Amino acid sequence: MKPKNVVLLGTTGSIGVSTQKVAADLPERVRIVGMASRESVDGMEKAVRQFQPLKVAMTNREKARELEAKIKQPVLAGERGLVELATMPEADIVLIAIVGTAGLEPALAAIRAGKDIAVASKEILVMAGELVMSEAKKHRVKVLPVDSEHSAIFQCLEGREPATVKRLILTASGGPFRQTPREEFKKITLAQALKHPSWNMGQKITIDSATLFNKGLEMIEARWLFDVEIDRVDVVVHPQSVVHSMVEFVDGSILAQLSVPDMRYPIQYALTWPGRVPNSMPPTDFAKIGTLTFEEPDPVKFPSLRLAHTAGRTGGTMPAVFNAANEVAVARFVAGQIQFLQIFETVERTMNAHRPVAHPTLDAILDADLWARKEAERAV
Ligand code: MG
Repeated sequence: MKPKNVVLLGTTGSIGVSTQKVAADLPERVRIVGMASRESVDGMEKAVRQFQPLKVAMTNREKARELEAKIKQPVLAGERGLVELATMPEADIVLIAIVGTAGLEPALAAIRAGKDIAVASKEILVMAGELVMSEAKKHRVKVLPVDSEHSAIFQCLEGREPATVKRLILTASGGPFRQTPREEFKKITLAQALKHPSWNMGQKITIDSATLFNKGLEMIEARWLFDVEIDRVDVVVHPQSVVHSMVEFVDGSILAQLSVPDMRYPIQYALTWPGRVPNSMPPTDFAKIGTLTFEEPDPVKFPSLRLAHTAGRTGGTMPAVFNAANEVAVARFVAGQIQFLQIFETVERTMNAHRPVAHPTLDAILDADLWARKEAERAV
């Protein structure tokens, strides 16, 4: 089989680095033809030397010039560079792992250029799930999940009709405050919130795991990715993070996908799909894991799940508002300006003030995003 030509948007972040490892592990199957990053010159220099992509881009223009001087190869600068990479004639699939709204335009551009996309950036499906999935259908391209939960569901479903699904069961590690009593939530510090029990990830997503907003965002993503309404998307806490998610079918039978927690598994599956190929990953040793446990998430401690359900059910621009308000609140918490519990309050207040637009265009989505950011800043 010939290798898949991959464009990697978000080369130097947590997912980008794991993707580099997968590509290095599978040189016959994965060839990186385009690489982009926001501003990490050192990370990009190293990656470009190792993978020698045809095209390179950096959204920060100054950093683009800096990188250009180092690698002696043209570097596309600014947001346009992301779109140019996403539509490269050589590309088979575009893996989008850039934080924030910057991934939206390149995702749509890739789809319209007939490329499959692999989605790691939550914003793409949370903010624009309806639009992205309908464009993908129109252009007959595949939207492949990179997130471990959605990859698990994707693997369990294997193209079966949504009508055969009773419910999707997303597993959640529960974060570092699973056993912390609600009374102590007021005193939670940033350092405590940044200690994740089972996954090693970026800062924003680590805070989102502590609040369970990450799971809320994943509920909305799953709703669009698998065309299953939010009422059929459930969450169960599973602290070992070995069962990555499950699908319950209408006959009551449940399929699950398991492995030790490592992002290289779902990344590889997205890049080699529909194939499966051997790799040098560590095996999953059940005797060593010993116990797998499951529990109900606490809705009082974590109102994030209820807010996600409301956002997903309301649809339109509400999920974009849910996402943006959370982003503002997390930034303020990281900056030491608000307390942990105020993250939930900020999101709820912003959602309550929003008048959602149904079936929004990209512009309407981006407008709602901007509005929510201003409103959330006001709320805090
Ligand atoms: Mg996840």
